[in-house]
Amino acid sequence: MPAKPKSPARELLFGDLWTYDPAPETADPNISARYGLFINGRFSAPKSRKYFPSVSPRDESKLAEIALAGPADVDAAYQAAAAAFPAWSGLPGAERGKFLYRIARLLQDRAREFAVAETLDGGKPIKESRDFDLPVAAAHFFYHAGWADKLEYLGHGKPVRPLGVVGQVIPWNFPLLMLAWKLAPALAAGNTVVLKPAETTSITALKFASVLTDAGLPPGVVNIVTGAGETGAAVVRHPLASKIAFTGSTEVGKAIQRALAGTDRKLTLELGGKAANIVFGDAPLDQAVEGIVNGIFFNQGHVCCAGSRLLVQESVAAEVLARLKRRIATLRVGDPLDKNTDLGAINSREQLDRIRGLVASGVEEGATIYQPECRLPAKGWYYPPTLFSGVSQSHRVANEEIFGPVLSILTFRTPQEAIEKANNTAYGLSAGVWTDKGSRILWMADRLKAGVVWANTYNKFDPASPFGGFKESGFGREGGRQGMWDYLG
Ligand code: NAP
Ligand code: MG
Repeated sequence: MPAKPKSPARELLFGDLWTYDPAPETADPNISARYGLFINGRFSAPKSRKYFPSVSPRDESKLAEIALAGPADVDAAYQAAAAAFPAWSGLPGAERGKFLYRIARLLQDRAREFAVAETLDGGKPIKESRDFDLPVAAAHFFYHAGWADKLEYLGHGKPVRPLGVVGQVIPWNFPLLMLAWKLAPALAAGNTVVLKPAETTSITALKFASVLTDAGLPPGVVNIVTGAGETGAAVVRHPLASKIAFTGSTEVGKAIQRALAGTDRKLTLELGGKAANIVFGDAPLDQAVEGIVNGIFFNQGHVCCAGSRLLVQESVAAEVLARLKRRIATLRVGDPLDKNTDLGAINSREQLDRIRGLVASGVEEGATIYQPECRLPAKGWYYPPTLFSGVSQSHRVANEEIFGPVLSILTFRTPQEAIEKANNTAYGLSAGVWTDKGSRILWMADRLKAGVVWANTYNKFDPASPFGGFKESGFGREGGRQGMWDYLG
């Protein structure tokens, strides 16, 4: 309800007196108190006999106990996947496709329930899990269902075959969506899977097991083992794996590459990023500001392709900074379950500490910090939207992936300088270009060393469009026919 303004003039001057009533999403997330491991089509207690808590970053409350898979559990999952492989890969593609269509529709039916569970477990705003994560996850199953009976068109005349059992390890920033990116192409191609979700966000993957059961997926085709890094390492090292697909940090990606060196297993790595979002003086600035905000504050900045380095042409730098400051002062930070919330909770205390540490380094190294006034909830893990201006190339905030709601702003004069600065990073996952000139967009896209270049938009995803990195952002693609190739031999 709006607070009563004292006079119309005051209302005009002090628009911020208006407040919103809380608008929490109320659908039941249907979370069990305890989850076992999903192996061979059913939930079972872990042989390790260990469980760990999954905590909500929203208020630090415990949501569920999750089974900790040890090496014997991971082995059981691989045995089940290997046993299921001949029948699954032998099905006509159209039959496999029907399972994927069913999964997609069941996910749509239960979208609200899954969205609330995702928000509670991971901290992202409900409007994002509801309007982005769930629809895009379902879209990935729909899209790949369509490939299942068309594999022969992927081989350019040569027959293609599934690889066998695939081990998949995913991160915490888009838990269900990353599951969909991994499972949908692997299953469409005829592989069977052992998947490990991230320790802090296993709940939607475990709920997803019931979607698989309801879809009638044969036991063992998908097995879900939960746990932390050691469980992931056991998934990666298992001798029955024909391929490992990993999304996560560059550091762990490198360790996995070392572990697989000298074996004949296939590997795809989707790793970190430090994307440049480049704004030219001729860009429509209001649109660009929206794109910058979406680029860095979407999902609290826990986005591998986040536009975390803003490169703005010197002629408009002061104007863009002023508009950005005004815009981020209107962002609502707080309860992720509230439908009005723009920035929800930071996924874990560990991640919050990392963001704080990197922001402190930015201040120490001499960049100028701006944070709008905002009241953060007393419980839970939250961080305000943050801008750093006056950033130079050598600053840590210009080089390291912060994975939080922190934007580093640098300037440039010429297109050539923009390219040099944009490419001056170890990463190469994504980039954004804002300009009125089509020819300049193409000129820039040719020279940017990034897997995805968005023009006059940002963070647009389509299952038909391949996504993946250059340099330390990894190799292999997810989505499109390129993504299918990575699951076929
Ligand atoms: P992370 O620490 O590398 O973890 C990713 C996954 O690997 C988690 O399931 C993790 O388990 C597991 N893991 C940890 N140590 C392992 C090991 N030694 N062997 C095998 N698996 C291991 O990354 P994160 O902090 O979860 O995610 C953030 C990172 O992911 C960022 O750098 C981000 O840029 C990147 N990311 C990239 C993309 C992309 O498509 N390129 C998409 C999303 C995120 P636990 O977490 O359970 O310990
Ligand atoms: Mg959690």
